[in-house]
Amino acid sequence: MDKLSLGLTKELRQAMWKKITETIESYFDQLESFPIVPVMDHAKIRDFIKSIDFNQPIDPLKAVAWATEGLTKYQMHMPHPRYFGHFCPPSSSMGIAADALAATFNPQLATWRASPFAVEVEQHLIQNFGKLFGYEKSYGHFTSGGTEANHTALLCALIQRFPEFRKEGIVGLKSRPTVYVSEEAHHCHTRAAALSGLGVDYVRHIKSNSAFQMDVDELSSQIAKDRQDGLTPLMVVGTLGTTNAGAIDPIEKIAEIANREGIWFHLDAAYGGAAILASELKDIFKGTEKADSFILDAHKWFSVPMAAGIFMTRHPKLLENMFKFSAAFIDLERTGRIEGEEVDLHYQSMQWSRRFIGLKLFLTLAVAGWEGYRELIRSQIQLGELLRKELKSTGWEILNQTPLPIVCFVDTKHPEGRETSYLEKVAKKVVKSNQAWIFCSHLNEATPALRACVISYWSSESDIHRLVKGLNQAREDLTY
Ligand SMILES: *Cc1c(COP(=O)(O)O)cnc(C)c1O
Repeated sequence: MDKLSLGLTKELRQAMWKKITETIESYFDQLESFPIVPVMDHAKIRDFIKSIDFNQPIDPLKAVAWATEGLTKYQMHMPHPRYFGHFCPPSSSMGIAADALAATFNPQLATWRASPFAVEVEQHLIQNFGKLFGYEKSYGHFTSGGTEANHTALLCALIQRFPEFRKEGIVGLKSRPTVYVSEEAHHCHTRAAALSGLGVDYVRHIKSNSAFQMDVDELSSQIAKDRQDGLTPLMVVGTLGTTNAGAIDPIEKIAEIANREGIWFHLDAAYGGAAILASELKDIFKGTEKADSFILDAHKWFSVPMAAGIFMTRHPKLLENMFKFSAAFIDLERTGRIEGEEVDLHYQSMQWSRRFIGLKLFLTLAVAGWEGYRELIRSQIQLGELLRKELKSTGWEILNQTPLPIVCFVDTKHPEGRETSYLEKVAKKVVKSNQAWIFCSHLNEATPALRACVISYWSSESDIHRLVKGLNQAREDLTY
């Protein structure tokens, strides 16, 4: 293999970059005309992939065209303006550019000295986002997503309460720690319990109230019960914008209980945290500064390409206490490192080799400004309001209460309008018509509801009309 196989010639490179920029432009131009749901033909997809033979190398332009065809035909077009599903927005243009730059310069962020610019860019963002949530100084880093960030929170809580945890593991602790989440919390907290050795049976799923928020009386009584049983209540997780219903747990009340009980308060603001920029929602964010740690996902409402989670805590040293390991090949103490001035991320996180995740958020913010994000969030909140209004006026009943643009609803005009099988049929019909993409979920794991979330920055009022039209058409088709 010679260097031209990997680096390519200048002519080929230039032709390819041109092709890539044309591809990006035509994707956004054509996006609306694509079916949101892909062809799900297993054999066809595998045959398509096998059409590339590694023993018969191809021209780079052909390779790019092949990948573009695969991505066009065989993936769900979540950036579509009428994708009203999970928290998967289209990428910001500056985010796409930043990822290309990061890939080109390919900095390794494990140590400060290898890439001081990149590490400082990320730390600058961490301090800025920490301040938004009321932290004077933040300790944190970018992660592969909310799942890793939430796992990091649990490890911080463990190492703070049980300094012997790192050496002895969970089995070496004097008593079993327990974690409290609402039954509507993201399942990654349960996964973290499994991965950290805590055990999924020690995660308490606290009942939610009628607004799908954690019931704090239940929380208090479960903590008391666990203490009686000789367990050690360790951490409570409040969610700021649940995945299902966009519910916002009562932050101040949870903070009060956590403080009284001496347990770690973690805030999972993966999706909803972005709404802190909407000044009209200030009240629901009261008390965020009391959280011992919190997480955000920049690849959700902030619309940067996947994957970009952020973990933050207001407690110094805990990350090092958990993650600092030395390796013979990287003795930082001998590099002239200035303690307190240089953040070495491999001493503070799960990762060793670390890509430049923060640049896509930094450049998006640099160009859009806080005001650009404020406008996006405000306008999507308004689209959520419009959707609620249109649904109500056509006989759909809304089951959730949230200022965030997530609407969970059932049909009052159909005798089976509250049943899973009917709602699933409606969702299927809407998706099949390609009017929009929504799905049927279950709130508190029991109550079926159609769920629509405004997440694409391409979505407009006319897309909301199309969704409601699609729903009403589906209802009509199912009646006759
Ligand atoms: C998306 C989400 C997660 C998981 O984050 P990933 O980035 O998908 O790993 C956790 N909690 C909440 C509330 C989420 O919305």
